[in-house]
Amino acid sequence: MGKPTGFIEYKREVSTDVSPKNRIKNFDEFHEHLSLVKQQLQGARCMECGVSFCQSGIQLSGMTTGCPLNNLIPEWNDLLYKGNMEAAYKRLKKTNPFPEFTSRVCPSPCEAACTCGYNDSPVSIKENEYTIIEYAYNVGYAKVAPPKVRTSKKVAIVGAGPSGLAAAEKLNKRGHNVTVFERNDRAGGLLMYGIPNMKLEKHIIERKINIMKEEGVNFVFGANIGENMAGSDLLEQFDRVILTCGASNPRDINAIGRDATGIHFAVDFLKSTTKSLLDCNLKEGTFISAKGKHVLVIGGGDTGNDCVGTSIRHGAKSVTQLEMMPKPSEERLPSNPWPEWPKVLKTDYGQQESIAVFGHDPRIYQTTVKEFVKGEKGEVKAATIVQLEWKKNEKTGAMSMVEVAGSEQTIPVDLVLIAAGFLGTQSYVADAFGLKLNPRTNVITKENSFATDIPNLYVAGDMHRGQSLVVHAIREGRDVAREVDLSLIGYTNI
Ligand SMILES: Cc1cc2nc3c(=O)[nH]c(=O)nc-3n(C[C@H](O)[C@H](O)[C@H](O)COP(=O)(O)OP(=O)(O)OC[C@H]3O[C@@H](n4cnc5c(N)ncnc54)[C@H](O)[C@@H]3O)c2cc1C
Ligand code: SF4
Repeated sequence: MGKPTGFIEYKREVSTDVSPKNRIKNFDEFHEHLSLVKQQLQGARCMECGVSFCQSGIQLSGMTTGCPLNNLIPEWNDLLYKGNMEAAYKRLKKTNPFPEFTSRVCPSPCEAACTCGYNDSPVSIKENEYTIIEYAYNVGYAKVAPPKVRTSKKVAIVGAGPSGLAAAEKLNKRGHNVTVFERNDRAGGLLMYGIPNMKLEKHIIERKINIMKEEGVNFVFGANIGENMAGSDLLEQFDRVILTCGASNPRDINAIGRDATGIHFAVDFLKSTTKSLLDCNLKEGTFISAKGKHVLVIGGGDTGNDCVGTSIRHGAKSVTQLEMMPKPSEERLPSNPWPEWPKVLKTDYGQQESIAVFGHDPRIYQTTVKEFVKGEKGEVKAATIVQLEWKKNEKTGAMSMVEVAGSEQTIPVDLVLIAAGFLGTQSYVADAFGLKLNPRTNVITKENSFATDIPNLYVAGDMHRGQSLVVHAIREGRDVAREVDLSLIGYTNI
C-alpha cells in the first residue's frame, strides 16, 4: 500500500461533467478528467485490503459484485499512486484486454464492492483505470506488439463485439492465425452500434482495432454467417470456430396498434444515429430522427436512457420514458447490504439532460403502453398508457404487475423507441450450425465449458450467457480463448 493513511487524508474526487445544456449540442464524451497528479492521490485512497472485494467478481443475491475480470485493482492503484505508470499499465493489461472500453462504459461493480464505500465513498477505480490506459496510449506503452512465433492453427471468430474481440486478441497474441467475421461494416458490436458516441467515442474503438490489425488479426466485414456465408464452410476451413454473435433479439411490446409506423427498436434507432454520425456527420434523412417529435421510450433501463440522451441531442419536442417496475429506493435498503450491488435509484446522463431541458425526469414508473393510436397514414400519433400495481394471483399465489382499472391516459407521441430488453440468439445463426438453444434462447454448451456438441465449435459472450455487460463479454472472450488454446496446443498460458 503506497500511503496507509491515504483513505483518511484524501476525499474521493472524480471527473466533472460538461453541463447538460452544453453537452447536448453534440455527441462527444463529456467528462473532464482529473489531472494525473490528482488522480494519483485517488490511487492513494486504496487500502489494499486483505480481502479485496473490488476484484472478487462474485455473485451475491443474484447480482455481480466486484470486477468480473478479477482485475488486479489494489496493485495498479498503488502503482498509479507511486507514479510507476508502465508497471500499472502492465498489471492492468494482464487481466483486461480493453481498459479503454471498460473505463468508459462499465457500471463498475468494483466500486460498488470497494471497502472504502462501506461507510465513506469508494476508491475511484474506474477513473484510475482510465488514467492508466490513456497515459499508456499517450506515451507509447500501448503499442503494436505482434506475437514472436506463429502456430499453424487457424481460428475463425464470428462477431466483432467485445467478446469476439477479447478472444481474437488473446488467441492472436498466442500466435494462432485469427480471422474475425463481422456482418456490420465496423468492428465493436454493441460498443460501436449500441452504446452512443457520448459514452464511448468511436475513434477509441478504431484505435484498438488498428493495433489488432497490425498485430495480425484479420477482419472480414459484411460477412453475415448463415446468410451470405455458410457455417459449414467455416468449420471446414478453420481448426476452431468461436461464435460471439450477441443476444440481439429484441423483446417486443404486445399492444394494440403496434404495427403503426414510427415505432422502432432502441438499437435500430441508436445504430442509425451512430452510423450516420460516422458516415456523414448526421446528414438529414440518413438516420431515424427525433427532431421536433414527442418521443416515447418504453423501458427504464440503461438502453432507454441512451435513447433519451440521443433523442434530446436530435432536438426532440418532449421525451417520456416508461418503466414497469416501481421507483427504486434512493438509499440502500437493509435487505441489500454492502458489498451487494446497490439496487438504488440512478439518474443517468440522459435523464439529467431531460431535467435540464424539459424541467423534469422523463421516467414514469409502474406504467406501460396499452395502445398505440394511429393517424390517417398509419403513423403513430398517440399512446394510451396505463398504471400497474403488484397483485397476488389468487390461484397460484404468485405476485405480478397488473393494470390499475381506470388509470388510462392518452399522450401525444410521434416516435416510439422500444428498449424492453433482449431475448437471446437470433435463430438463423444457431440454425446455420445446427445449434440447440435453452428456454432463454441462449446457445447450450457443455457443462462449465464454451464447447458445443458440434466438434470444434465454441460459443461465448451474450450469445452464451444472455444480454449482459461489456465486462462479462470480455471475460467470456478471455475464457473461451483459453479453452480453445488448450484444445489446440494441449496446454495454455492465457
Ligand atoms: C444500447 C445498449 C447500451 C449498452 N450499454 C452498455 C454499457 O454502457 N455498459 C455495459 O457494460 N454494457 C452495455 N450494454 C451491454 C453490452 O453492450 C453487451 O453486453 C456486449 O456488447 C455483449 O458483447 P458480445 O460481444 O457478446 O455481443 P455484441 O456486442 O452484441 O456483438 C455481437 C457481434 O456479432 C455480430 N454478428 C451477429 N450475428 C452475426 C453473423 N451471423 N455473422 C457475422 N456477425 C454477426 C454483430 O453484428 C455484432 O457485431 C449495452 C447494450 C445495449 C443494447
Ligand atoms: S476494496 Fe477498495 S480499498 Fe480495498 S483494495 Fe479494493 S479498491 Fe482498494
